[in-house]
Amino acid sequence: MPAKVTKKKTRAAKKAKKSASVKYVYDFGKKTDGDATLRNTLGGKGANLAEMAKIGLPVPPGFTLTTDVCTYYYDHKRTYPKSLQSEVKTSVSVIEKEVGKKFGATKTPLLLSVRSGARESMPGMMDTILNLGLNDQTVLALADESGNEAFAYDCYRRFISMYGDVVMGVQPVNENDHCPFEHALEKLRTEVGVQQDNELTSENLQELIERYKKIIKDRTGSAFPQDVYEQLWGAVGAVFSSWQNERATLYRQKYNIPAAWGTAVNVQAMVFGNMGDNCATGVAFTRDPANGEKIFYGEYLINAQGEDVVAGIRTPKPIALLAEEMPKAHKELEAVRKKLERHFKDMQDFEFTVENGKLYMLQTRNGKRTGLAAVRIAVELVKEKLISKQTALLKIPADSISSLLVAVFDAAIIKKTKSLATGLPAGPGAAAGKIAFTANRAEEIASKGGHAILCRVETTPEDLRGMIAADGILTSRGGVSSHAALVARQMNKVCVCGASDVIIDYGAKTLTIGKTILKEGDDISIDGTTGEIYAGHVATAPSEVDQVLSGKLKPAKSYTYQLYQQVMEWADKYRTLGVRTNADSPEQAKNAIGFGAEGIGLCRTEHMFFEGDRITFMRQMILASDEAERRAALKKLLPFQRKDFSGLFKAMGNLPVTVRLLDPPLHEFLPHDESSKRELANSLGVDVDVISNRVHALHESNPMLGHRGCRLGISYPEITEMQAQAIFEAAAACYKLKKPIKVIPEVMVPLVGFADELKNQVALIHRVAAEVMEAKKVKFKYLVGTMIEVPRGALTADEIAETAEFFSFGTNDLTQTGLGMSRDDAGTFLGKYKDLDILPQNPFASIDVAGVGQLVDIGAKKGRSTNKDLKLGICGEHGGDPASIQFFHSVGLNYVSCSPPRVPVARLAAAQAAIKQG
Ligand code: PEP
Ligand code: MG
Repeated sequence: MPAKVTKKKTRAAKKAKKSASVKYVYDFGKKTDGDATLRNTLGGKGANLAEMAKIGLPVPPGFTLTTDVCTYYYDHKRTYPKSLQSEVKTSVSVIEKEVGKKFGATKTPLLLSVRSGARESMPGMMDTILNLGLNDQTVLALADESGNEAFAYDCYRRFISMYGDVVMGVQPVNENDHCPFEHALEKLRTEVGVQQDNELTSENLQELIERYKKIIKDRTGSAFPQDVYEQLWGAVGAVFSSWQNERATLYRQKYNIPAAWGTAVNVQAMVFGNMGDNCATGVAFTRDPANGEKIFYGEYLINAQGEDVVAGIRTPKPIALLAEEMPKAHKELEAVRKKLERHFKDMQDFEFTVENGKLYMLQTRNGKRTGLAAVRIAVELVKEKLISKQTALLKIPADSISSLLVAVFDAAIIKKTKSLATGLPAGPGAAAGKIAFTANRAEEIASKGGHAILCRVETTPEDLRGMIAADGILTSRGGVSSHAALVARQMNKVCVCGASDVIIDYGAKTLTIGKTILKEGDDISIDGTTGEIYAGHVATAPSEVDQVLSGKLKPAKSYTYQLYQQVMEWADKYRTLGVRTNADSPEQAKNAIGFGAEGIGLCRTEHMFFEGDRITFMRQMILASDEAERRAALKKLLPFQRKDFSGLFKAMGNLPVTVRLLDPPLHEFLPHDESSKRELANSLGVDVDVISNRVHALHESNPMLGHRGCRLGISYPEITEMQAQAIFEAAAACYKLKKPIKVIPEVMVPLVGFADELKNQVALIHRVAAEVMEAKKVKFKYLVGTMIEVPRGALTADEIAETAEFFSFGTNDLTQTGLGMSRDDAGTFLGKYKDLDILPQNPFASIDVAGVGQLVDIGAKKGRSTNKDLKLGICGEHGGDPASIQFFHSVGLNYVSCSPPRVPVARLAAAQAAIKQG
């Protein structure tokens, strides 16, 4: 008994010691505790502030409250760990000592900024508070010590409005309402007859402060707090709370950032870019984030605070001008730019402030960039020997390769079209669509299958939904680092921003450029590569890469193509996974070969029957009441099929082609409306009632689980016979060409769950193959395999593999049947599942690794256990999804097969999977 108690006590003591030893606050400045290895704990901003401080860049001192505090905060009803208060006090005093100021003091008061900082940056999604520590007393000291009363009151009024908004919840009531503080500011400007905020006098600002305080009191019933620590904890709580606000949640969903990560909070000594004309603030990129060019890129405002640059309220000046206005600071920034890239080995996006001529670095992070810029930067960093090819490949989000393939405006049409205005090119590509002035309108247009261009004076995080829905974004105000530009870039949306000749009137719902007045719903076209804006709908043309691939443009004339080519060459060097395509026509096949496909992994033969007369023959076949009728219809289909296959084989040259036997969910082919029933009746010379009765008889309650896949070929062997005959005759013809194409057809049987199902079909296919070879006097190799797309197929893969020469995982059906979720209807509830984090992403788009992935793994292992030469592929939609590709690589599949435009994405993703696995 005593021994037990002692043991218990020791454990409790250890536990207590452990929780007491958790470090919740990390300092940076002269004393720096953290570094980049602590990114998960300190968030991206906190970790990089620590790094910058360590490499000797001028960082105002501060401290980071870790993401553990955020986790604790949400796990404990929005309260903090016990030790936090004293840790914060200690760290505030460290700052006080370093800068020689005191928090809340009426002499040389220390002012602080409080900012969020998650592991992955989420620009503009969470809240920030600046100038914290100002109150009715400290503002007097700031006025006195800066010798600039207007500056001090301007800081104070900014702080009150930010605090009122973010901490006390004083906000517009709906999307057409004004921000109450903005409204009060505009009103005062009108009253005193000035245009710009910086024309307001100290007295005006003091009046404004009183009005702001009254707004807060009226709206919340509470006074704006004067106690600086109350302010600090209010701000910290608001920033932690903003992790769960609607826009941050939406952003996390879009970028698959887990809610469990939490955000860190950075508290830092304020420096001022708004103290006078020898002060400035700016945002810069070490390279152009829109196209990746190696130029110093950014913008700044003299005598302003950082938020003014990103908020798009004043249009900032390009960074090159700083060389004239503040040559010393510009030179220092150039040096910082080089140092940052050498240290972080990537393009950086950083914020700086010049306070009375002295440069301070406020943050740095790997810059968000367009897909095109991602590719260019990665390739050029290799050429500059800053990173290896493998690192470069890992730095390019696989999906972003598609942005090199985005449409451009048709050059011939553009030549004849006059642009109405030009803005800043912020997101490359061409987009045409209907003007939408609000996020709601953009969503509405998109939900009806239309294309929207979201047109805003400037965007705020509130517009995120509209930005997601729209094809393109146009703003009349704000620079290249405005919210619109930043977010569009990351979403790979076409974006033109800061088009100052565009006048947007939300009230009248008009967009005016010179004499042209466009209304909501009118067509507009924007070019995010050049910044041009056109009225009306301008037709688009294939990307430069497409043009080179189709021989319309010489490779030497397109740097974009050269970049694409370079990345693909490196990717092919490192990947071990093959990449095939899903194609049903020679045209699709040729397109895919251009993108580097190494074969066809899935030809859905039923798709070949939608054209022209074929649907009628197909319907005759499906609705036939006996074998004779069915054979008659199949006879008509045979020549079409043979021609289709021979077209595919010729398009693919000697590359492998997997042809899947018919797998039509019958309902897709049956005539439903009266006129098509009548048409079919006429073609068969029967009464329409005969057709109606047959359709009725064939009705299935669950067509996806019905008479489809191999079940069809088993019930009606003549269907398999006809298809096998068409495949083998087309192949035979290829061998007999003057220049023979040595095609090795791969015949694939769908929806197999029982080894005997496959045996039944394989016997038939072998028989037809022998007959065709005999008749055509030619011998060739072919393979017969199966799709694994029902759980039983995966679980009994060892038995099935005894007959199969290859497996192709049909992860669309395997997800449908494995999860018991209809692939056609899951959309009705998946949104809710995503909101609740039950399913982090759509399992039909990205493989459910734990469930369906396990079936694939089992299928692969069991299959190879009885047939070690078994070739394994996957041809569901997941074959083009980078995260899924990584998984397929890890379970040892031989290839993925995806739609033609996803082929380059798959090549890159496959290389990344191989490099990551090592
Ligand atoms: C699959 O089920 O994953 C597959 C590729 O087949 P289909 O989508 O044609 O059912
Ligand atoms: Mg399927």
